[in-house]
Amino acid sequence: MRTLFVTGTDTGIGKTRVVAALVRLLSAQGGSIQIVKALETGWGDPNESDARRAWRLAGTSAEAFTLMSFKAPLAPLAAAAAEGRQITLTELEARLDALPDCDWRIIEGAGGLAVPLMADGRDWVDFAKLVEVDPRPVLVVPNRLGAINQARMAHAYARARGLNPLIWLNECAPVDADVAEANFTGLCASGLTPLAVQHHGDLLPDNPSSVVSALTKVYVDSVVRSAAHTVDGVGDRCRAVLADREEDGLRRVLRVTDGRDRLLNLADNDYLELAHDPGVTAAAARAAVEHGTSASASPLITGWHAPHAQLVKTLCEWHGLPHGLLWSSGYAANAAILGVLPQKGDLVLADRLVHHSMVAGLLRSGARLKRYPHLDLAALENELTRAEPGRLVFVVTESVFSMDGDHPDLARMAELKRQFGFFWIVDEAHALGWYGPQGAGLVRAAGVEAGVDVLVGTCGKALASGGAYSLFNDETVRDALVNLAGEFIYSTGLPPMTVAAAEAAVRRIQCLATDQAAWRTQSQAFRAALQADGWDAPNGDSPIVPVKLGAPGTAVALAAALREAGIIAAAVRPPTVPAGTSRLRFSLKRTFGEADSLRVLAVMRAWRARS
Ligand code: PMP
Repeated sequence: MRTLFVTGTDTGIGKTRVVAALVRLLSAQGGSIQIVKALETGWGDPNESDARRAWRLAGTSAEAFTLMSFKAPLAPLAAAAAEGRQITLTELEARLDALPDCDWRIIEGAGGLAVPLMADGRDWVDFAKLVEVDPRPVLVVPNRLGAINQARMAHAYARARGLNPLIWLNECAPVDADVAEANFTGLCASGLTPLAVQHHGDLLPDNPSSVVSALTKVYVDSVVRSAAHTVDGVGDRCRAVLADREEDGLRRVLRVTDGRDRLLNLADNDYLELAHDPGVTAAAARAAVEHGTSASASPLITGWHAPHAQLVKTLCEWHGLPHGLLWSSGYAANAAILGVLPQKGDLVLADRLVHHSMVAGLLRSGARLKRYPHLDLAALENELTRAEPGRLVFVVTESVFSMDGDHPDLARMAELKRQFGFFWIVDEAHALGWYGPQGAGLVRAAGVEAGVDVLVGTCGKALASGGAYSLFNDETVRDALVNLAGEFIYSTGLPPMTVAAAEAAVRRIQCLATDQAAWRTQSQAFRAALQADGWDAPNGDSPIVPVKLGAPGTAVALAAALREAGIIAAAVRPPTVPAGTSRLRFSLKRTFGEADSLRVLAVMRAWRARS
């Protein structure tokens, strides 16, 4: 399901007509469409509701719903207060979740973008973020004198809060041709080239095909840009997308990292410092000599060798699950598992912050994805209670979250599994080594390995190697992936030396794990020191310590200051993390000590004093 959100610069500017136009355009593509009025004030006859009006105007078979309605024709807060009621985003979200499935859901807000819905000032921007509008909201701007100003102000407001709306110029009353022309060129000159221009009385915009292609392509940024500029080729389109990223402080660049001896690397995931461990490198070298430097074929041809089979055996014993597979990367493993096992008609309940690789797989699967608030198992339970009987339900989580370093209560999740009977997938990428008996992770630490259906682990982090694995309690699930997952079938097997390095690393981890308590105490101490200095770092004891800074530019600037001082910490920005939560991500190592902590804090303090 894809969700579009239609908002505007004002009230009474024809949002409902725009919704109807969108329904007409998208229904011509096939698939089911739902019109949802999120909130309506001045509510009288349900047959005259905005959703019904849009439905009539669209003249198609879309379904129409209204989530909340109030009688008084006032702004949302006042209209709710007049009835002694309150609007909460959680309630709007819950009502939205209770609607039936569809291919496209078009949601219309009430009034203008920044009108408050809750007493604390939360507005439609907060709503749009919560319901994960895909890909960008539509901002309706009335095509009249003053449109450029209204569009620029609303767009800047949305942009500052992490949204990048598409402008839809709508002629809600006849407009002078000169004004319309000046509005269009003025918006283009301001970098806000309209996605669509809809004339007074028209049911569709001027440029229906480019609107549809903009809304139906995955890489919407580039497509919209291509509608906005003269594009001669892919190069132009790419430049436009990158310019957008640059403007938002979100452009990523690739750089060479060397100088291992000089730099304190708190950005990579070699938590147990085994990538240069003599035992691990020697095992890799031996395997290269004995088995060659490459598997040279996909596993089902001739790319599965003795070291591969041995590593699977070791991993099964370590984690306590009986069957396993190796993958070329954790990304491939997650994308394959979540792309192949859930299917259309199934329900997948995933923590809101699960890794991109899992979401990528899920989107491919066609299953219905609902994300529950991060770590909120009461919300998960609520979703499980509401799941339709007979639906296959999957629950997906990480055991240590990659960007927040926190973890769910796995024992409680196992209890929920016993109660509701779902298929449980746990990604242990960041828990390995640091937690669990012999470093086997948090699933084993919680003693819930018998309840986990698929456990994913990566070899490129604490296992000091590359690739990944997945373990299963049911062998047929493993066999299905061997038969159906393109990432496994059509990709060269892991190099035997990579596999041997992982094997040696597991053995080392099993010995080193006796020191876990000391590493975790250091993590707690570092967090406490950051907090004492006024930084926004959470409590916890995992190796991942986020320091939230808000704006992307702040994270980049502080990371640069640290690098200057020989310390590498990752500046993590949207879309990797939610808008407004750009951060530094420190990943600690087993030898990280008080001296390192003092060094980092001193640089951060000096940077703060300067900026
Ligand atoms: N799962 C999680 C939780 C991750 O953080 C990552 C990567 N950082 C992956 C999977 C992907 O693993 P890989 O780097 O092996 O592709």
